[in-house]
Amino acid sequence: MSSENIKCLIIGSGPAGYTAAIYAARANLSPVVYEGIQPGGQLTTTTEIDNFPGYPNGTTGQAMMDDLKAQAERFGTSVRFGMVSEVDLSQRPFRVIIDNEKEIYAETLIIATGATAKYLGIESEEKYKGQGVSACATCDGFFYRGKDVAVVGGGDTACEEASYLAGLCNKVYMIVRRDELRASKAMQERVKNTPNIEILWQYNTKEIVGTPIGGVNGALLVHKNGSEKKIDIHGFFLAIGHHPNSELFSKWIDTNEEGYIITEGKSSKTNVPGVFAAGDVQDPNYRQAITAAGSGCMAAMDAERFLTENR
Ligand code: NDP
Repeated sequence: MSSENIKCLIIGSGPAGYTAAIYAARANLSPVVYEGIQPGGQLTTTTEIDNFPGYPNGTTGQAMMDDLKAQAERFGTSVRFGMVSEVDLSQRPFRVIIDNEKEIYAETLIIATGATAKYLGIESEEKYKGQGVSACATCDGFFYRGKDVAVVGGGDTACEEASYLAGLCNKVYMIVRRDELRASKAMQERVKNTPNIEILWQYNTKEIVGTPIGGVNGALLVHKNGSEKKIDIHGFFLAIGHHPNSELFSKWIDTNEEGYIITEGKSSKTNVPGVFAAGDVQDPNYRQAITAAGSGCMAAMDAERFLTENR
């Protein structure tokens, strides 16, 4: 197994990871970023970004991540494709195994592994994954042009996905388990004013129905009052939130009951000195590109200070 010693290892390549890399590179920490399973992170699956300061005409998730990567590389960050398969944070330098074939000894570690979409956990959802069931409208919506689809959830993500799909599909049902949306007022207005979005209030999904060859062709819903309703749809999109990608570190790093990494006060410090966390993996509240980027900056500054103090 090949081995390498580095000052600052960053795991994850969303806005948190790349911003940490920009700051760490400019502080001469020669950072290495491992991109993980989804290079560029979750933002690469969104279309328009209109709320990141500095883009008066908006931008796309992919363009922003390409720019962040280029900026990190401009200052000497080594951005590499690969997955962390194992970590040992019991002593410094921390031992990190990449793809079971490379070993890295890192003096500091920045965890920026983000979060992953949640699924309902029903059997038929598993059966039709990739055959009509998706957790990313912007990735897969294209396949349902002109058809009827459903989005589950009532948050900003669900509203955003429903609006996006409404531009492609014939009709979009939103399956909402309560009698109100969790989304911001602006997003609520947007979906309520879109003629081909119909909100099905107080419904849960009992089963997704379809055929092995044709994929999804409907969903069986249950109202809060117990009555059932069948809708004819070809796409079933999950937008019910995310869970943090912290499992790899949970043996060493303290998390809350949902798995979000706990950071100390207004810092990025975890319970292990020299290990810092940034972005969605440690943020159950804001989960925005701009807040992730800000916390990535904090993590790099914390790592730089840690190295100075522990030289
Ligand atoms: P949220 O946690 O905000 O919303 C999840 C939604 O899914 C809620 O309506 C919830 O219902 C529903 N839900 C959860 N579990 C189930 C289930 N098992 N069955 C049915 N429905 C379920 O997640 P989001 O991904 O929407 O948003 C996460 C964060 O990201 C938020 O802070 C949001 O503001 C932000 N965001 C901002 C955007 C923007 O600014 N442009 C775009 C997208 C996200 P209930 O309300 O009943 O709990």
